[in-house]
Amino acid sequence: MKVTVDANRCEGHARCWEICPEVFSLDETGHGFVEVPEVPSHLVAHVQIAEQNCPERAIILS
Ligand code: SF4
Repeated sequence: MKVTVDANRCEGHARCWEICPEVFSLDETGHGFVEVPEVPSHLVAHVQIAEQNCPERAIILS
């Protein structure tokens, strides 16, 4: 599974990072970005929870 953050939608709530800091980081303005675009199998469930909890629907799984 791959994950990206749509920077045009992200409003910086940081929920992705709180839920899965192994995959998501925050930039200096608090907006999320992906550190590990190819999600390791043991983190897939966490990334799916992050996707479901992003208020802006900015996390895209493929
Ligand atoms: S939870 Fe969504 S809106 Fe918030 S920082 Fe992460 S990607 Fe951006």
